[in-house]
Amino acid sequence: MPATLQFLGGVRTVTGSSHLVKCLKSEVLLDAGLFQGHRDEFYKVNTTFEYNPHKLDALILSHAHIDHCGNIPGVIKKGLSCKIYTTHATKDLSKLMLEDSGKIQEEDINYVNKINRRLGMPLRKPLYTKKEASKATRKFHPLSYGHRFCVARNIFATLVDAGHILGSSIIVLDIKDGVKTIRLGYAVDLGRRGLPLLNDPVIPKGLDYLILESTYGGRMHAPIQDAESRLRDAINRTIERKGKIIIPSFTLERAQEVIYFLNKLIREKQIPAIPIYVDSPLATDITEIFQFHTDYLNAESAEAIKRGDSPFEFLNLRYVRDQRESKNLNNDKRPMIIIAGSGMCESGRVLHHLKNNIEDSRNTVLVVGYMAKDTLGRRIVERLRYVRIFGVEYELNAEVVVINAFSAHADKAGLVDFINKALPLKRIFLVHGDEEQSLALFNTLQGMGLNAYLPAKNEEVLLE
Ligand SMILES: [Zn+2]
Ligand SMILES: [Zn+2]
Repeated sequence: MPATLQFLGGVRTVTGSSHLVKCLKSEVLLDAGLFQGHRDEFYKVNTTFEYNPHKLDALILSHAHIDHCGNIPGVIKKGLSCKIYTTHATKDLSKLMLEDSGKIQEEDINYVNKINRRLGMPLRKPLYTKKEASKATRKFHPLSYGHRFCVARNIFATLVDAGHILGSSIIVLDIKDGVKTIRLGYAVDLGRRGLPLLNDPVIPKGLDYLILESTYGGRMHAPIQDAESRLRDAINRTIERKGKIIIPSFTLERAQEVIYFLNKLIREKQIPAIPIYVDSPLATDITEIFQFHTDYLNAESAEAIKRGDSPFEFLNLRYVRDQRESKNLNNDKRPMIIIAGSGMCESGRVLHHLKNNIEDSRNTVLVVGYMAKDTLGRRIVERLRYVRIFGVEYELNAEVVVINAFSAHADKAGLVDFINKALPLKRIFLVHGDEEQSLALFNTLQGMGLNAYLPAKNEEVLLE
């Protein structure tokens, strides 16, 4: 039986990454991401499997973002019993991310069931609970970067640094097919060179095939230094007006990058040392993991932490776990910076801060991440005159500053550069992108005379 690769999810879209590699006697899954969409579609897509989880010999997880690890508890509920391989940092981060995902789902289902009970409709269950998420991570088996490891009969895996978030990996599989060995690379997601906390992505050598993300297949990012200067200007402007700066932020990687830059700006006296609050228990826990797993940081950050000079700990920075303390920030009228989740302003503590601060024109909402369509975050980015929070309309008078330079994904130039350094390649499969972005990269690669391919969902291809 020749080796095959099936694209189960995260094709022509950015969420729900999952791919199945099969060869004689072995089945290995790469990622089991959560498909994110409206409630009904969410449940349908995330509970429909094109394979038998029972038959899997191994699952290899690239990184702790929920669109890559978020359906692991769901696959376990459907029968997965094999080991799950990933890095040490990803194991620890995934535990927090999955528990949080379980908690959000339980809350959502409680809300839905309250309505369904009133209407006499059947009650629903979450995909998985916080407890099930926590149990799932017991199957995780940590690996170090660079070690070649037999994960299933005839399949060896090596993880190398993807430079995307803490602990993220490019997965390299050596698949034995009779007398020959096929080398497959999986760079989903691929990081960006020069990120402040991480090492640059490693280029795997000797690949036959490459599965590559294409989130920004047709776009270029502004340099990361732009993020720093725009952050500085927005903060100084707001302080002059005696306002507050609210930063809605994703809790994993983005929050830590923002803290890193704030520390640097204060150190260099580019902004005054006003109080900074990280108002998120999850971001607080994640930041602790960053300080624990220094091996996964770049040399500069790792050494700073080891000599007691952590970019995540400074005098005017405070991590807020307690809900009362979070609410008390509303009574404090001094200029301050509040970093809070959720990243797209759909839930979490940031909602209270937005509600209390967006009507005052002295304040600033500083957007540092992607805001999807139909989210409160997107409405703020579009600077609508009125926005609805907890069912009440608020006038948006605060300044809105959008900084796009923070991305942790390779842009078009980064993707092309990575491919050029990984050549020769028999074929490049483009996944993890909205169709127009994947197509843009596809056209670029074809123009370079390379064999690029845009697979369809559930399509299966031969690896020869
Ligand atoms: Zn990611
Ligand atoms: Zn992703």
